[in-house]
Amino acid sequence: MQVPVLGGGTRTYVDLDTAATSPASAAVARAVADFLPRYSSVHRGAGARSQYASARYEGARDTLLGFVGADPATHVALFPRNTTEALNVLAFRLGLTRDDVVLTTAVEHHANLLPWRRHARLRVVDVDAAGTFGPEDVIAALDQRPVPRVLTLTGASNVTGWLPDLGRIATAARERGVLVVVDAAQLAGHRPIDITALGIDVLALSGHKMGAPYGAGALVGPRDLFSSGEPLLVGGGAVRAVSFDDVVWADGPDRDEAGSPNVLGVVALAAAAEELGPEVWPALLGHERALTAALDAELATVPGLRRLGPGTVDRLPVAAFTLAGVPHALVAARLSHEHAIGVRSGCFCAHPYMSRLLSLTEDEVRRFHRDAGAGRVDLPGAVRASANRGTSTADVAALGTALRAIAGTPEDADRYRLDEHGQYVPAAPSLTVVRG
Ligand code: PMP
Repeated sequence: MQVPVLGGGTRTYVDLDTAATSPASAAVARAVADFLPRYSSVHRGAGARSQYASARYEGARDTLLGFVGADPATHVALFPRNTTEALNVLAFRLGLTRDDVVLTTAVEHHANLLPWRRHARLRVVDVDAAGTFGPEDVIAALDQRPVPRVLTLTGASNVTGWLPDLGRIATAARERGVLVVVDAAQLAGHRPIDITALGIDVLALSGHKMGAPYGAGALVGPRDLFSSGEPLLVGGGAVRAVSFDDVVWADGPDRDEAGSPNVLGVVALAAAAEELGPEVWPALLGHERALTAALDAELATVPGLRRLGPGTVDRLPVAAFTLAGVPHALVAARLSHEHAIGVRSGCFCAHPYMSRLLSLTEDEVRRFHRDAGAGRVDLPGAVRASANRGTSTADVAALGTALRAIAGTPEDADRYRLDEHGQYVPAAPSLTVVRG
């Protein structure tokens, strides 16, 4: 895609925001184009198209179970919209009370904090200065009283790309009879997952971070968890019989999928999962290792750049950083408007983690909340560059070149103004045209 840049002309867009959303892959686009003329209602129609759509929808459950290494005899895949919805459904379905403790970590995305906090008490494993913790820290928290009912943690950080030691952590939790939940929103598109081997009970993921478009995610968990009790969303499709004062719920997984499902999105999600089969991982992991090393090498050459998080290469190709004297949103804007590079800036829906990575004091966190409440938009944050299988090392080199140029021309900040959404926009208008 060609995009206009400040000063005239166009440049080829470089997408270094893939941790937010990764574009649909060619295989997924083909699967959608193939299914689109044939899709129909599922589970209700006797006609051939409805039968076909139902078979594709139900078949996708098996695909997703296979994708994460779940046993179809014990596990089921539900299709919420995304990881956020998956974790909200799960937190509701576990029947937690205020007496229950959910053990989580300071690394989490808000999607893996807020749904739990609504139903139970949180116990949080904190991070060190590098933004990491060890399995022993989780074990110590597991051994505090009362014993947590649930341990929920991310498979990979969306801020730093850091990968907690899931296997050791899950084993320790399981030994103590604690349900293990993993937020695999970031992990799923970057690493093979085997929940059976790792000892994970429940896993949530989003299609739009692994090569499918928005609107379909997966919640994989034990069948019996979803075969009794009330669902979060209620309505048609989730029931067997309804009167004005009674309801007979459908069996799982229909019970948790009230309303017409996103069949097209689920077909896309299944195509994305199929594309990430065992044969692709060796080359993909090699490519991502090269990207991570290139990212670290480029960022190390930028004057005034401070990295957040661990320096380890064994992480996702993601890096968060600040640039001395340049607000994070201005760095992102200059990368976009002058170099056609897309990154993310802010706190990445992980405020507690970012407060720690930025070493904010308690007073500074309080001010952050006060300012946010008052509608201020120039809040603390950082820049995040993220890459995936579609990224080349040339893309990463372009980031390094652009950041060195920005660090060397702080006076060019004058060409921008801060808008009411907290984004820096060029003081001169008419740069919004995008050419295909
Ligand atoms: N967890 C992590 C680690 C994420 O990166 C994200 C998305 N940024 C989410 C959860 C939420 O995903 P979604 O917006 O697709 O629900």
